[in-house]
Amino acid sequence: METIPSFTIDHLRLKAGLYVSCKYVIGAETVTTFDIRVKRPYHEDVMTTGSVHALEHICATYLRNDPLWKDRIIYFGPMGCRTGFYLIVVGDVDTDTIRPLVERTFDYASEFTGDIPGATPKECGYCVDMDLEEAKNDAAMYYNVLIEGKKENFTYPKPRKKRQSKSDED
Ligand SMILES: [Zn+2]
Repeated sequence: METIPSFTIDHLRLKAGLYVSCKYVIGAETVTTFDIRVKRPYHEDVMTTGSVHALEHICATYLRNDPLWKDRIIYFGPMGCRTGFYLIVVGDVDTDTIRPLVERTFDYASEFTGDIPGATPKECGYCVDMDLEEAKNDAAMYYNVLIEGKKENFTYPKPRKKRQSKSDED
C-alpha cells in the first residue's frame, strides 16, 4: 500500500506549530487539511486523553460557531498520537489565512469556563474522560506558539536529501 502523505513528514524535526498537511481536489472544490501541532513530537509530553478530549469538544464547538468560518468547517479532531489535531476546511487555504481562526479558537479554549459542550453520556461516548484544567494549559501554551511562532512553526521541515552511497560516488 502507498504511504499516506502525513507519514512522510519528518516528525523528529517537526516543531509545535500550524501547517498545511494536505489539499485534496474533490470535484470542483478543494479542501485543505491543517496540522494543528500542539506538542513538539519527542520533545514534549503528549497531551493526556482528558485534555485532548476536552479540547476536541471545546474547539470543535467554537469553530462551528465562528461567524467567518462556520460554513467552511468540515472536521476538527485529534491525532491518534495526541500531539495535535487536524482541521479540515473547504477551500484552497494557506496558514496565514487560517491562523487568526486557530488563534482565537485556542485563546477561547485557554480561558474556557462553564460546562464543556456535549459532555454528557447521551451526547458523547466517554464523557468522563475530560480534563478541563489540562486542556486550558495546553491551549494557552499552543496559543503562545501561534503568537510568537517563527517561519519554522508554520512550514513543514524540508525533507533531507538522501546521502549518495559510496558506490554512487565511484
Ligand atoms: Zn466526546
